[in-house]
Amino acid sequence: MSVRLEINLRKIHHNAHVLVERLAVYGISVTGIAKATLGSPAIAEVFLEAGVTMLGDSRIENIEKMKKANISAPMSLIRSPMLSQIERTVEFSDTSFNTELEIIIALSRAAKLVNRTHGIVLMVELGDLREGIMPDDVEDMVRSIIKLPNIEFKGIGANLACRNGVSPDAINMAELSALADSIDNTFGIAMSIVSGGNSSNLEWIFSELTAGHIGRINNLRLGEAILLGRNPLDREPIEGLYTDVFKLIGEIIEFKVKPSQPWGEIAHAAFGTPSPIRNQGDISQALLAIGEQDTDTEGLSPPPGFKVLGASSDHIILNAKENHLAIGDEIAFGVNYSALLRSMTSPFVSKVI
Ligand SMILES: *Cc1c(COP(=O)(O)O)cnc(C)c1O
Repeated sequence: MSVRLEINLRKIHHNAHVLVERLAVYGISVTGIAKATLGSPAIAEVFLEAGVTMLGDSRIENIEKMKKANISAPMSLIRSPMLSQIERTVEFSDTSFNTELEIIIALSRAAKLVNRTHGIVLMVELGDLREGIMPDDVEDMVRSIIKLPNIEFKGIGANLACRNGVSPDAINMAELSALADSIDNTFGIAMSIVSGGNSSNLEWIFSELTAGHIGRINNLRLGEAILLGRNPLDREPIEGLYTDVFKLIGEIIEFKVKPSQPWGEIAHAAFGTPSPIRNQGDISQALLAIGEQDTDTEGLSPPPGFKVLGASSDHIILNAKENHLAIGDEIAFGVNYSALLRSMTSPFVSKVI
Protein backbone atom coordinates (compact mmCIF):
# COMPACT_ATOMS: atom_id res chain seq x y z
CA MET A 1 0.00 0.00 0.00
CA SER A 2 1.35 3.40 -0.86
CA VAL A 3 0.82 6.65 1.03
CA ARG A 4 -1.06 5.85 4.19
CA LEU A 5 -1.95 7.10 7.63
CA GLU A 6 -1.58 4.39 10.26
CA ILE A 7 -3.91 4.83 13.22
CA ASN A 8 -3.38 3.04 16.52
CA LEU A 9 -6.79 2.57 18.17
CA ARG A 10 -5.32 1.11 21.34
CA LYS A 11 -3.36 4.33 21.90
CA ILE A 12 -6.45 6.46 21.21
CA HIS A 13 -8.34 4.40 23.78
CA HIS A 14 -5.57 4.90 26.32
CA ASN A 15 -5.38 8.67 25.79
CA ALA A 16 -9.15 9.13 25.92
CA HIS A 17 -9.52 6.94 28.99
CA VAL A 18 -6.75 8.71 30.93
CA LEU A 19 -8.28 12.13 30.19
CA VAL A 20 -11.83 10.99 31.02
CA GLU A 21 -10.63 9.64 34.40
CA ARG A 22 -8.53 12.69 35.25
CA LEU A 23 -11.42 15.04 34.45
CA ALA A 24 -14.03 12.91 36.23
CA VAL A 25 -12.28 13.86 39.48
CA TYR A 26 -13.52 17.41 38.89
CA GLY A 27 -16.97 16.39 37.67
CA ILE A 28 -16.08 17.26 34.07
CA SER A 29 -17.46 15.15 31.23
CA VAL A 30 -15.70 14.76 27.91
CA THR A 31 -17.20 15.38 24.50
CA GLY A 32 -14.96 13.59 22.01
CA ILE A 33 -14.33 15.77 18.98
CA ALA A 34 -14.21 13.80 15.77
CA LYS A 35 -13.43 16.48 13.18
CA ALA A 36 -9.75 15.61 12.79
CA THR A 37 -10.77 12.01 12.08
CA LEU A 38 -13.26 12.87 9.34
CA GLY A 39 -15.98 11.44 11.59
CA SER A 40 -14.40 7.97 11.60
CA PRO A 41 -16.93 5.54 13.11
CA ALA A 42 -14.12 3.22 14.29
CA ILE A 43 -12.48 6.05 16.23
CA ALA A 44 -15.85 7.26 17.56
CA GLU A 45 -16.48 3.75 18.95
CA VAL A 46 -13.13 3.82 20.71
CA PHE A 47 -13.90 7.26 22.22
CA LEU A 48 -17.14 5.87 23.65
CA GLU A 49 -15.53 2.67 24.96
CA ALA A 50 -12.99 4.86 26.73
CA GLY A 51 -15.70 6.73 28.63
CA VAL A 52 -16.41 9.73 26.42
CA THR A 53 -20.12 10.51 26.90
CA MET A 54 -20.86 12.74 23.90
CA LEU A 55 -19.47 13.19 20.42
CA GLY A 56 -19.00 16.47 18.64
CA ASP A 57 -17.95 17.65 15.23
CA SER A 58 -17.80 20.96 13.42
CA ARG A 59 -19.18 19.41 10.22
CA ILE A 60 -22.70 18.02 9.93
CA GLU A 61 -21.43 15.67 7.22
CA ASN A 62 -19.24 13.89 9.79
CA ILE A 63 -22.09 13.69 12.32
CA GLU A 64 -24.35 12.24 9.65
CA LYS A 65 -21.66 9.67 8.82
CA MET A 66 -21.36 8.59 12.47
CA LYS A 67 -25.15 8.44 12.93
CA LYS A 68 -25.53 6.34 9.79
CA ALA A 69 -22.84 3.99 11.10
CA ASN A 70 -25.10 3.45 14.15
CA ILE A 71 -22.83 5.19 16.61
CA SER A 72 -25.15 5.69 19.54
CA ALA A 73 -24.16 8.73 21.55
CA PRO A 74 -25.55 12.23 21.88
CA MET A 75 -24.09 14.29 19.02
CA SER A 76 -23.27 17.99 19.04
CA LEU A 77 -22.57 20.18 16.06
CA ILE A 78 -19.86 22.39 17.60
CA ARG A 79 -19.79 25.00 14.85
CA SER A 80 -22.85 27.15 14.31
CA PRO A 81 -25.17 25.44 11.83
CA MET A 82 -25.36 27.09 8.40
CA LEU A 83 -28.80 28.38 7.47
CA SER A 84 -28.47 26.18 4.38
CA GLN A 85 -28.03 23.06 6.54
CA ILE A 86 -30.74 23.54 9.16
CA GLU A 87 -32.87 20.49 8.28
CA ARG A 88 -29.83 18.26 8.18
CA THR A 89 -28.67 19.61 11.53
CA VAL A 90 -32.01 18.84 13.17
CA GLU A 91 -32.12 15.40 11.60
CA PHE A 92 -28.66 14.19 12.63
CA SER A 93 -27.46 16.29 15.56
CA ASP A 94 -29.12 16.35 18.97
CA THR A 95 -27.53 19.64 19.95
CA SER A 96 -25.77 22.49 18.19
CA PHE A 97 -23.58 25.37 19.34
CA ASN A 98 -25.05 28.72 18.40
CA THR A 99 -24.50 32.46 18.46
CA GLU A 100 -27.22 33.85 16.15
CA LEU A 101 -30.92 34.05 17.09
CA GLU A 102 -31.89 33.92 13.42
CA ILE A 103 -30.31 30.48 13.14
CA ILE A 104 -31.83 29.23 16.40
CA ILE A 105 -35.30 30.36 15.18
CA ALA A 106 -34.74 28.40 11.98
CA LEU A 107 -33.71 25.34 14.04
CA SER A 108 -36.88 25.71 16.10
CA ARG A 109 -39.07 25.78 12.98
CA ALA A 110 -37.31 22.81 11.41
CA ALA A 111 -37.47 20.81 14.65
CA LYS A 112 -41.18 21.54 14.99
CA LEU A 113 -41.88 20.29 11.48
CA VAL A 114 -40.35 16.89 12.24
CA ASN A 115 -41.59 16.81 15.83
CA ARG A 116 -38.17 16.74 17.49
CA THR A 117 -36.45 18.73 20.20
CA HIS A 118 -33.11 20.30 19.35
CA GLY A 119 -30.64 21.29 22.07
CA ILE A 120 -28.87 24.65 22.07
CA VAL A 121 -25.55 25.52 23.66
CA LEU A 122 -24.86 29.25 23.49
CA MET A 123 -21.26 30.14 22.80
CA VAL A 124 -19.96 33.14 24.72
CA GLU A 125 -17.10 35.39 23.54
CA LEU A 126 -14.32 35.46 26.14
CA GLY A 127 -11.62 37.25 24.19
CA ASP A 128 -10.21 34.96 21.50
CA LEU A 129 -12.56 36.64 19.00
CA ARG A 130 -13.79 33.69 17.04
CA GLU A 131 -17.38 32.56 17.74
CA GLY A 132 -19.48 33.75 20.66
CA ILE A 133 -21.97 36.35 21.77
CA MET A 134 -20.72 39.16 23.99
CA PRO A 135 -21.31 38.32 27.70
CA ASP A 136 -23.65 41.32 28.14
CA ASP A 137 -25.97 39.97 25.47
CA VAL A 138 -26.35 36.47 26.90
CA GLU A 139 -29.33 37.20 29.16
CA ASP A 140 -31.49 38.67 26.38
CA MET A 141 -30.53 35.84 24.08
CA VAL A 142 -31.51 33.18 26.63
CA ARG A 143 -34.82 35.00 27.22
CA SER A 144 -35.57 34.65 23.49
CA ILE A 145 -34.37 31.06 23.22
CA ILE A 146 -36.40 29.60 26.06
CA LYS A 147 -39.61 30.83 24.41
CA LEU A 148 -38.97 28.91 21.21
CA PRO A 149 -40.90 25.70 20.54
CA ASN A 150 -38.99 22.42 20.10
CA ILE A 151 -35.81 23.99 21.43
CA GLU A 152 -34.12 23.01 24.68
CA PHE A 153 -31.64 25.48 26.12
CA LYS A 154 -28.82 23.22 27.36
CA GLY A 155 -26.27 25.72 28.56
CA ILE A 156 -23.34 27.87 27.62
CA GLY A 157 -19.84 27.31 26.34
CA ALA A 158 -16.70 29.08 25.26
CA ASN A 159 -13.84 28.45 22.91
CA LEU A 160 -10.38 29.93 23.38
CA ALA A 161 -6.89 29.58 21.92
CA CYS A 162 -8.07 28.93 18.36
CA ARG A 163 -7.83 32.29 16.60
CA ASN A 164 -5.67 34.52 18.77
CA GLY A 165 -4.16 32.02 21.18
CA VAL A 166 -5.95 33.57 24.20
CA SER A 167 -5.40 31.01 26.99
CA PRO A 168 -8.05 29.73 29.38
CA ASP A 169 -7.28 31.15 32.84
CA ALA A 170 -8.82 31.91 36.24
CA ILE A 171 -10.32 35.18 34.97
CA ASN A 172 -12.07 34.08 31.77
CA MET A 173 -13.18 30.75 33.26
CA ALA A 174 -14.62 32.53 36.33
CA GLU A 175 -16.49 34.83 33.96
CA LEU A 176 -18.09 31.83 32.27
CA SER A 177 -19.06 30.30 35.64
CA ALA A 178 -20.50 33.59 36.91
CA LEU A 179 -22.53 33.90 33.75
CA ALA A 180 -23.93 30.38 34.24
CA ASP A 181 -24.92 31.27 37.84
CA SER A 182 -26.55 34.52 36.82
CA ILE A 183 -28.53 32.96 33.95
CA ASP A 184 -29.70 30.12 36.19
CA ASN A 185 -30.82 32.62 38.87
CA THR A 186 -32.51 34.98 36.47
CA PHE A 187 -34.54 32.27 34.73
CA GLY A 188 -34.94 29.80 37.58
CA ILE A 189 -33.28 27.02 35.62
CA ALA A 190 -30.29 24.72 36.11
CA MET A 191 -28.44 24.58 32.82
CA SER A 192 -26.98 21.15 32.24
CA ILE A 193 -23.88 22.09 30.23
CA VAL A 194 -21.16 24.61 30.95
CA SER A 195 -18.61 23.65 28.32
CA GLY A 196 -15.34 25.34 29.24
CA GLY A 197 -13.50 24.79 26.00
CA ASN A 198 -11.19 22.52 24.04
CA SER A 199 -7.89 20.71 24.69
CA SER A 200 -6.24 24.02 25.54
CA ASN A 201 -8.27 24.13 28.80
CA LEU A 202 -6.50 21.11 30.29
CA GLU A 203 -3.45 23.03 31.44
CA TRP A 204 -5.61 25.43 33.48
CA ILE A 205 -7.78 22.65 34.93
CA PHE A 206 -4.83 20.57 36.08
CA SER A 207 -2.70 23.49 37.25
CA GLU A 208 -1.83 23.60 40.95
CA LEU A 209 -2.90 27.23 41.09
CA THR A 210 -6.41 26.22 40.01
CA ALA A 211 -6.42 23.58 42.78
CA GLY A 212 -9.69 22.13 41.62
CA HIS A 213 -11.51 25.49 41.70
CA ILE A 214 -13.11 25.03 38.35
CA GLY A 215 -16.43 26.70 39.16
CA ARG A 216 -19.40 25.63 37.06
CA ILE A 217 -17.40 24.05 34.24
CA ASN A 218 -18.66 20.51 33.78
CA ASN A 219 -17.68 19.65 30.21
CA LEU A 220 -14.71 19.91 27.85
CA ARG A 221 -14.58 19.20 24.13
CA LEU A 222 -11.41 17.27 23.39
CA GLY A 223 -9.88 16.41 20.05
CA GLU A 224 -6.18 17.19 19.85
CA ALA A 225 -5.31 16.09 23.41
CA ILE A 226 -6.81 12.64 22.79
CA LEU A 227 -5.48 12.17 19.28
CA LEU A 228 -2.02 13.69 19.60
CA GLY A 229 -1.40 13.55 23.36
CA ARG A 230 -0.19 17.14 23.38
CA ASN A 231 -1.17 20.43 25.02
CA PRO A 232 -2.17 22.76 22.16
CA LEU A 233 -0.89 25.84 24.03
CA ASP A 234 2.75 24.82 23.75
CA ARG A 235 2.52 21.48 21.92
CA GLU A 236 4.35 19.78 24.79
CA PRO A 237 3.41 16.13 25.49
CA ILE A 238 0.74 15.60 28.17
CA GLU A 239 2.09 13.32 30.89
CA GLY A 240 1.05 9.71 30.53
CA LEU A 241 -0.38 10.03 26.99
CA TYR A 242 0.85 8.64 23.70
CA THR A 243 2.07 11.23 21.19
CA ASP A 244 2.49 8.71 18.37
CA VAL A 245 -1.09 7.58 17.69
CA PHE A 246 -0.73 8.45 13.99
CA LYS A 247 2.07 7.75 11.52
CA LEU A 248 2.12 9.01 7.96
CA ILE A 249 4.00 6.62 5.68
CA GLY A 250 5.55 7.67 2.38
CA GLU A 251 7.56 5.85 -0.25
CA ILE A 252 10.91 6.72 -1.77
CA ILE A 253 10.84 7.23 -5.53
CA GLU A 254 14.30 8.75 -6.06
CA PHE A 255 17.52 8.49 -4.07
CA LYS A 256 20.61 10.26 -5.36
CA VAL A 257 23.69 12.09 -4.26
CA LYS A 258 23.11 15.73 -5.26
CA PRO A 259 24.58 19.13 -4.42
CA SER A 260 22.89 20.73 -1.40
CA GLN A 261 22.57 24.07 -3.24
CA PRO A 262 20.47 24.81 -6.32
CA TRP A 263 22.07 26.46 -9.34
CA GLY A 264 20.73 28.95 -11.86
CA GLU A 265 18.69 32.17 -11.50
CA ILE A 266 16.33 31.89 -8.45
CA ALA A 267 12.67 33.07 -8.76
CA HIS A 268 9.44 31.87 -7.05
CA ALA A 269 9.05 28.14 -6.36
CA ALA A 270 5.73 26.21 -6.28
CA PHE A 271 4.98 27.32 -2.70
CA GLY A 272 6.63 30.73 -2.35
CA THR A 273 10.27 31.70 -2.34
CA PRO A 274 12.58 29.22 -0.67
CA SER A 275 14.98 30.55 1.94
CA PRO A 276 18.66 30.29 1.07
CA ILE A 277 20.22 26.92 1.84
CA ARG A 278 23.55 26.48 3.59
CA ASN A 279 26.11 24.78 1.38
CA GLN A 280 26.84 21.35 2.79
CA GLY A 281 28.49 20.03 -0.35
CA ASP A 282 26.97 16.87 -1.76
CA ILE A 283 24.21 15.16 0.24
CA SER A 284 22.09 11.99 -0.02
CA GLN A 285 18.80 13.37 -1.27
CA ALA A 286 15.68 11.20 -1.06
CA LEU A 287 12.49 12.08 -2.91
CA LEU A 288 9.23 10.84 -1.39
CA ALA A 289 5.87 10.52 -3.13
CA ILE A 290 4.00 12.66 -0.56
CA GLY A 291 3.33 16.36 -0.89
CA GLU A 292 1.03 19.24 -0.06
CA GLN A 293 -1.90 17.37 -1.65
CA ASP A 294 -1.52 14.68 0.99
CA THR A 295 -0.67 16.59 4.16
CA ASP A 296 0.77 19.78 5.64
CA THR A 297 4.41 18.96 4.98
CA GLU A 298 5.55 21.54 7.55
CA GLY A 299 3.71 19.58 10.26
CA LEU A 300 5.65 16.35 9.75
CA SER A 301 8.41 15.04 12.01
CA PRO A 302 10.80 12.73 10.17
CA PRO A 303 12.49 9.81 11.93
CA PRO A 304 15.84 10.51 13.62
CA GLY A 305 18.68 10.88 11.10
CA PHE A 306 16.51 12.55 8.44
CA LYS A 307 15.75 16.18 7.69
CA VAL A 308 12.94 17.61 5.58
CA LEU A 309 14.56 20.00 3.08
CA GLY A 310 11.51 21.05 1.13
CA ALA A 311 8.21 20.05 -0.40
CA SER A 312 5.86 20.75 -3.29
CA SER A 313 2.41 19.47 -4.33
CA ASP A 314 3.49 15.87 -4.77
CA HIS A 315 7.00 15.53 -3.33
CA ILE A 316 8.92 15.80 -0.10
CA ILE A 317 12.67 16.23 -0.36
CA LEU A 318 14.67 14.69 2.48
CA ASN A 319 18.28 14.83 3.48
CA ALA A 320 18.86 11.15 4.22
CA LYS A 321 22.27 11.90 5.79
CA GLU A 322 24.02 8.60 6.64
CA ASN A 323 20.99 6.40 5.85
CA HIS A 324 21.23 3.89 3.02
CA LEU A 325 17.92 3.67 1.27
CA ALA A 326 16.44 1.67 -1.59
CA ILE A 327 13.79 2.79 -4.05
CA GLY A 328 10.46 1.64 -2.58
CA ASP A 329 11.62 1.99 1.04
CA GLU A 330 9.13 3.60 3.37
CA ILE A 331 9.61 6.50 5.77
CA ALA A 332 7.23 7.03 8.73
CA PHE A 333 6.52 10.58 9.91
CA GLY A 334 4.90 11.90 13.06
CA VAL A 335 2.09 14.42 12.41
CA ASN A 336 0.95 17.61 14.09
CA TYR A 337 -2.71 18.70 14.12
CA SER A 338 -2.55 20.44 10.77
CA ALA A 339 -0.75 17.52 9.09
CA LEU A 340 -3.27 15.11 10.65
CA LEU A 341 -6.28 17.11 9.38
CA ARG A 342 -4.87 17.32 5.87
CA SER A 343 -3.91 13.61 5.70
CA MET A 344 -7.25 12.51 7.11
CA THR A 345 -9.10 14.55 4.50
CA SER A 346 -6.88 13.77 1.51
CA PRO A 347 -8.34 11.17 -0.84
CA PHE A 348 -4.77 10.17 -1.79
CA VAL A 349 -3.95 8.91 1.71
CA SER A 350 -5.27 5.49 2.74
CA LYS A 351 -6.29 5.18 6.37
CA VAL A 352 -5.07 2.00 8.01
CA ILE A 353 -6.46 1.14 11.42
C1 LIG B 1 -12.11 21.89 17.14
C2 LIG B 1 -12.92 22.33 18.27
C3 LIG B 1 -12.76 21.74 19.53
C4 LIG B 1 -11.70 20.69 19.80
O1 LIG B 1 -10.44 21.30 19.85
P1 LIG B 1 -9.14 20.48 20.22
O2 LIG B 1 -8.10 21.51 20.39
O3 LIG B 1 -8.90 19.54 19.11
O4 LIG B 1 -9.43 19.77 21.50
C5 LIG B 1 -13.58 22.15 20.56
N1 LIG B 1 -14.51 23.10 20.36
C6 LIG B 1 -14.69 23.71 19.18
C7 LIG B 1 -15.75 24.75 19.04
C8 LIG B 1 -13.90 23.34 18.09
O5 LIG B 1 -14.09 23.94 16.91
